[in-house]
Amino acid sequence: MDQTTPSTVRPRENVGTIPAYVPGKPPVARPGLTAYKLSSNENPYPPLPGVVAAATSVVEQMNRYPDMGCTALYDALAARFGVPVEDLAAATGSVALIYQLLQAFCDPGDEVVYAWRSFEAYPIAVSAAAATSVQVPVTGSGEHDLDAMAAAITDRTRVAMVCTPNNPTGPAVSHTALRAFLAEVPPRVLVVVDEAYVEFVRRPDPVDALALYREFPNVVVTRTFSKAYGLANLRVGYAVAQAPVAAALRAVSLPFGVSGVAQAAAIASLEAEDALFERVEALVGERTRVLEGLRSAGWEVPDAQGNFVWLPLGEATLDFAAAAGEAGITVRPFAGDGARVSIGEPEANDRLLQLADPSFLPT
Ligand SMILES: *Cc1c(COP(=O)(O)O)cnc(C)c1O
Repeated sequence: MDQTTPSTVRPRENVGTIPAYVPGKPPVARPGLTAYKLSSNENPYPPLPGVVAAATSVVEQMNRYPDMGCTALYDALAARFGVPVEDLAAATGSVALIYQLLQAFCDPGDEVVYAWRSFEAYPIAVSAAAATSVQVPVTGSGEHDLDAMAAAITDRTRVAMVCTPNNPTGPAVSHTALRAFLAEVPPRVLVVVDEAYVEFVRRPDPVDALALYREFPNVVVTRTFSKAYGLANLRVGYAVAQAPVAAALRAVSLPFGVSGVAQAAAIASLEAEDALFERVEALVGERTRVLEGLRSAGWEVPDAQGNFVWLPLGEATLDFAAAAGEAGITVRPFAGDGARVSIGEPEANDRLLQLADPSFLPT
């Protein structure tokens, strides 16, 4: 074949517009210094009790396809959350569910409204679906501006996404505010409530997303086993929505996407909830300690309701990230804007507090 002939195969036009996902960097080992990865909002704890044994028993059946219907996982989730099995859809992480729902609900050019800055997978998933992003700036304190989001809905809007707590800025919306937003949104617009960090929320008037999905047939709640449950590597998340919406999500799913190992680990994790709550409490305690430390050093950090804090570093962001790397912690910088730092082991958090010297404060 003539290697110089230009290729005439072309992906769809939207594929060229998909922004790259920037994964959190792993830490660089330095002699005499334990390195910590605080760049991907991972859980620093090992798997919950019983999870490795449950997962290992399935590893030995890796020659067999997994249960495509995720039957046992759906039964466990239905029992845990008091929802019908028909209202559930599991997938390879809640990111996959976001792709699936855009694929199932958006035609090319349809608009998807979401806050910005928010989860970096949103613009990627929207471009991949050939839909159009409508980004509504978060407030100065990193909160969703739900009034502005409601006002941004047009005849072309098919989906609105609410990330609560918001990754990477940290605040969570209140139940009252979210319910008022849902009352404004036309029922033909699907509203995604992305609750990847729901277990860490301690604000007053917290969102009860399951009550909202029961009240509003256009609500989809997405959750994940990647963060509080500590199964990021296994890729499993789920959505709760009224049956027709959940059925659409399942219809466009990859056959056999969620591995048997992931299904078994998720079920065993649900059975270990006492240990889960203890760990989440410890992380929330560390989050409070870090926030107080930063604020007493003069930082104006937004409320933190996930397992991470946001440092509004502005132009100092990349310098700060480099200094953090030197100190053996990896953070997630967003150039010119700020850095997201996950709550990790107490020693890692100590290191952040030492590093967040007021000299980095934006002037
Ligand atoms: C981490 C995260 C997810 C879920 O990730 P998966 O590992 O794909 O389940 C979803 N939304 C937000 C906002 C996140 O930060």
